[in-house]
Amino acid sequence: MTQGPSDCLFCRMVAGEVPPDVVRETDRTLAFRDINPQAPTHVLVIPKEHHATLGALAAADPGLTAELAAAAHAVAVQEGLASEAGPEPGYRLVANSGPQAGQTVHHVHLHVLGGRALQWPPG
Ligand code: 5GP
Ligand code: ZN
Repeated sequence: MTQGPSDCLFCRMVAGEVPPDVVRETDRTLAFRDINPQAPTHVLVIPKEHHATLGALAAADPGLTAELAAAAHAVAVQEGLASEAGPEPGYRLVANSGPQAGQTVHHVHLHVLGGRALQWPPG
């Protein structure tokens, strides 16, 4: 696995230096609860390998990008937000990229949000 920057919070979680509240793990992805939840379910899903943004990940490794999307959906199913029958009651995936989107951790992550009615558009 690519060694991420030593100052990257999510790489430190992958390395076991900071213990996250893990909800799901695969060989190449990790999902854990957001420390500041914005909905009853607020889980962050990351590739274990360091990439700054979703676009950078997609360019570098399309297969891992697909795994990340599948992992996020699996979290939604696990949290009771979706099932084999479809996306009921439903959930939102968010990938903030860059400063105007409010990205604060520069290791790509999908936010899985659900458990309440979500407003659109977001602020
Ligand atoms: P962004 O704004 O980059 O899209 O999202 C970063 C997310 O990481 C935020 O929702 C924030 O609450 C979360 N976060 C920041 N520090 C920690 C931490 O130490 N542990 C966990 N579990 N989440 C964190
Ligand atoms: Zn990282």
